[in-house]
Amino acid sequence: MTELLIRNGTVYTPSGPRVADVLVYDGVIMRVDAGLTAGSDATVVDAEDMYVLPGAIDVHVHSRDPGFPEKEDFGTLTAAAAAGGVTTVIDMPNTVPAVDSAGVLEAKAALARSKAQVDFGLWGLVRSTTTEEQLAGLADAGAVGFKAYLGYAFSQSRKQVQYSPGAGDPDLEPPPDYGTLARLAPALAGLGLPLAIHAEDPSVLLAFSRPLLGYQDLLDSRPPHAEAVAIAAASVIAHEAGFHLHVAHLSSATGLSAVEDAQRTGTILTAETCPQFLFLSEQDFERLGPAMKMLPPIRTPVDRAALVDGLKRGTISIVGTDHAPHTNEEKGRPFEDAMSGTPGVQALYLSSLEMASRLGDVWQAVQWVSERPAALVGLQESKGAIAAGYDADIAIVDPKVKTTVSAADMRSRQRHGALEGQEFGFAIKDVFVRGERVQHTGRARGRQVRPARRGEQIAQFGGALVP
Ligand SMILES: [Zn+2]
Repeated sequence: MTELLIRNGTVYTPSGPRVADVLVYDGVIMRVDAGLTAGSDATVVDAEDMYVLPGAIDVHVHSRDPGFPEKEDFGTLTAAAAAGGVTTVIDMPNTVPAVDSAGVLEAKAALARSKAQVDFGLWGLVRSTTTEEQLAGLADAGAVGFKAYLGYAFSQSRKQVQYSPGAGDPDLEPPPDYGTLARLAPALAGLGLPLAIHAEDPSVLLAFSRPLLGYQDLLDSRPPHAEAVAIAAASVIAHEAGFHLHVAHLSSATGLSAVEDAQRTGTILTAETCPQFLFLSEQDFERLGPAMKMLPPIRTPVDRAALVDGLKRGTISIVGTDHAPHTNEEKGRPFEDAMSGTPGVQALYLSSLEMASRLGDVWQAVQWVSERPAALVGLQESKGAIAAGYDADIAIVDPKVKTTVSAADMRSRQRHGALEGQEFGFAIKDVFVRGERVQHTGRARGRQVRPARRGEQIAQFGGALVP
């Protein structure tokens, strides 16, 4: 039996922060209390003046594995995650082959287990051709939920996923439309798993498509109402059928209004935004260049302020990174051809703590990156809290030491990112994955996480997540 005692830290517990010790046996938290003692073989960590926080769960990462090893793989993704206090990553299904069936998901999970340094979960893909049987198979294989890319077409043979409703390429499969969501809605409700959407309406994108000569063209080609229209339409379907809809990477004030409208009518709707939308605006393009090219785009200061406010008020309950690495060559091309996306998983916790402290309640960050993500993907009984019986996924954070995001410190295969140079008033001091200290030996210790079977939990779940 291995024993770990973390002493005298300011522990974020489900009832709030307090100074306490945390005692861990064999990777599971046994007690959280003052004055705990441990055996002579125990690892003892002094956390005085430190925050002892539940590890983050990044519900939106792209491992690129299998399919794009030059960009990233599960080993490098999870090394970056571990360095940033992210002890569980939930990987998106647009790897190759796309995760659209139980067999593909199981093979991907086996691959991830052979490399992952933190725990991982997998989203399943909804394509235009997806059947109810495929959804049920994905759920049985452990999918935490499903992802529909409403504004994207798939190209398996060219090994990429990209926007192209107007491209007319026979190799490209059109995105799932609202009819697909309506057709699958009863199955989604029956399975009790969330449907995450990339919320951009393809007809709006098509109408505003243009050559991307500069950053303004990117903004003009992806107007905020493309996001809002997709959220509104999908919400109507989710509301009628009673399934849980999750909006990935919310990027605009207009999209936020659509989220609020749907939540007001009782739709089970959660929204996630990303650190890059909270810290950056179009004004940073001159400094960052194509490093900040992503879809949906980083928009105006007004959008940024609205998203920060939505997070503060709880309309947006989750921060995920949309960690989406590309090679230096792919990001370094002229703007029009530069690939869209940025790495970011390593900065999730520190950037969220920084934002929460600026908003006056640093502990809100724990809700955004750990508690609420755990509930979204059905892990609320094993992760996302420091309490007896929970996995000992723990980040120890020093609130007196600053961290500046720097390519030199990144553990992702891609050492660049849109948050380069941002300064956060916190530092990751120590990270434990199920009680085991992260030491960057590369050891594969990650396990696949599966949602607790829900159904009856949906009501409680909606209540906990919808303000
Ligand atoms: Zn993404």
